[in-house]
Amino acid sequence: MVELKNITKQFGDTKVVQNVSLDVREGEFLTLLGPSGCGKTTTLRMIAGFEQPTEGNILLDGKRVDGTPANKRNVNTVFQSYALFPHMNIYDNVAFGLKMRRVDKNVIKEKVTKMLELVRLQGYENRTPAQLSGGQKQRIAIARALINNPKVILLDEPLGALDLKLRKQMQVELKHLQQQLKITFIYVTHDQEEALTMSDRIAVMNNGFVEQIGNPVEIYEKPQTKFVADFIGETN
Ligand code: ATP
Repeated sequence: MVELKNITKQFGDTKVVQNVSLDVREGEFLTLLGPSGCGKTTTLRMIAGFEQPTEGNILLDGKRVDGTPANKRNVNTVFQSYALFPHMNIYDNVAFGLKMRRVDKNVIKEKVTKMLELVRLQGYENRTPAQLSGGQKQRIAIARALINNPKVILLDEPLGALDLKLRKQMQVELKHLQQQLKITFIYVTHDQEEALTMSDRIAVMNNGFVEQIGNPVEIYEKPQTKFVADFIGETN
């Protein structure tokens, strides 16, 4: 579904992503886990098409996407900062991607209604983002990312701005949504517990490299490097 083949990204003299290879399966919840600065976001931005790799190839559905711009990749991104349009109401925020594609108004209405139901925010159409809580804003950002049926959703610390209680609740909701829709999630976090509870597989990154890829039990019980053992053993 999403393949990274020996990806390296260099900014100036510094390699921030080094020889990363990943094969993300259809419908999988794969997490990039690691400390601040290890290259998680840069890896995600290359998959999204916001950055080009210095070396290596990215394949979506078996096709190389080197020259394909971000808006043609059938991949949507959810950021920690929500990135909602403050001046637009919730309906227009969720509808934005479809309006840009000049989809029929009635079809848009039907889809927005369905998405708002999915994230349990029916009735919020006319509010602005400022009138929503953090968790509600993030659910709108997720609805917006889901509306044009992308094959893959990239999530960069999507729950990072929420307090602990809400974060736990949203972890359950997000995982449920991902399983219900059978959509491929590539998820970035520095939070080990979040990665262990939500993921099908985890790629632990350190200093631009992937140290280990495995399911949560393998990562937790059989860390293959000292870094993985130490990082997973730390408490937040
Ligand atoms: P965080 O969890 O703090 O977001 P991260 O693991 O996502 O960290 P990246 O954001 O991918 O890490 O950054 C990896 C390294 O690349 C950092 O040292 C960062 O300063 C550097 N970097 C990222 N973008 C650029 C850029 N456009 N130009 C130069 N250096 C950059």
